[in-house]
Amino acid sequence: MYFEPIKGTGAERRDELGNFASYRKRPHRGSDWGFKGGSEGKPVYAVADGVVAKVLVTSELGNCIITKNSHDKVYTIFCHLKELPKFSNMDRVVGGETIIGHIGNTGSNSTGAHLHAAASLQPKPQLAPQEELLDLFKLIDASKPKTTPKPAAKKPAAKKAAK
Ligand SMILES: [Zn+2]
Repeated sequence: MYFEPIKGTGAERRDELGNFASYRKRPHRGSDWGFKGGSEGKPVYAVADGVVAKVLVTSELGNCIITKNSHDKVYTIFCHLKELPKFSNMDRVVGGETIIGHIGNTGSNSTGAHLHAAASLQPKPQLAPQEELLDLFKLIDASKPKTTPKPAAKKPAAKKAAK
């Protein structure tokens, strides 16, 4: 079961895994979230039940925390946090209601306060090859209750033909 890492008014998804942006010169190595009207200091929640695996600082990603899910052993790193989360003991249990940090703008890769998160079966998602990164947007969407019963499983043939 996955949850959105930010909640409440103005919370939105910003940039998906693999998206190519010219300023970055490479595919996006994770998924971004933010708040309309300003993200700085807003709480970040664990995306699944699990434990805190590590807190760390890197020059590019700033203050980060890594959690490990109990149900699928996926590691998720949350980056550019305002402060280094103060978890005195690792293996602390977290869940979708646990605040694990606050959004900030730390690290040279950050272009303004937002949350960058990356998931992988690798214990260090920030170092995982691009193809071993998991799409958090898709994992979260797959956990959501199906509210709008769309006609089931339309085939891609229904897509508009590309020019
Ligand atoms: Zn990002």
